[in-house]
Amino acid sequence: MCLDAARRRGWEITQIVNTHEHSDHTGGNAALQDATGAKILAHAGAAARIGGVDRGLKRGDVIRVGRTVELECLDTPGHTMTHVCLLSHTAQPALYCGDTLFNAGAGNCYNGGDPHSLYDTFVTQLARLPEATRVFPGHEYLARNLEFTLDREPENRDAAALLERERGTDPAAATVTTLAEEKRINSFFRLENPAVIARLRERYPDLPEHPDARTVFVHLRELRNRW
Ligand SMILES: [Zn+2]
Ligand SMILES: [Zn+2]
Repeated sequence: MCLDAARRRGWEITQIVNTHEHSDHTGGNAALQDATGAKILAHAGAAARIGGVDRGLKRGDVIRVGRTVELECLDTPGHTMTHVCLLSHTAQPALYCGDTLFNAGAGNCYNGGDPHSLYDTFVTQLARLPEATRVFPGHEYLARNLEFTLDREPENRDAAALLERERGTDPAAATVTTLAEEKRINSFFRLENPAVIARLRERYPDLPEHPDARTVFVHLRELRNRW
């Protein structure tokens, strides 16, 4: 798909960036590199597991694409412990967030990750990005995640309206949300919301009446694993 898209547009692929080491994100490396001679870039800590990595990435590194595009590497552990997100240096930033942040959801942590680290990544990094940042995750789970949001917060009108729109949308034309929208529709950014907490306490009766945000996040992640 990447090769076809590049050919259609007359672009030369010179770099392949893996957000993390899972095979659904790295499985195309060899064939794409054979076809293009491109260099492979990935989190420095994931390089040994991926193999064939030409440039190990760390927080603050900048990937230059063509003459004008700059992508800044964020070190975003949680889904795995060696995961990068890429933030474009553009008037309206774009975030390529792999399996860390999904539209209306968060990545799972049961294949090499840790929900506490994912919480730290959400709170100390993602939530602080500009509100207008456009979100481009590695998978399209919007409708299913909105159903989870509405199960947490049945009165969330933004989530209900977006789900209604999604049901009439061509699946090939994925909806792109902004971080501002995510904060309205994504339970993992709504850790102080009274409805989220009340519903969570129905599932986890041992939770205190005013759980801290980390506790809410970790329980939401746990609940989503079985939901
Ligand atoms: Zn993954
Ligand atoms: Zn994935």
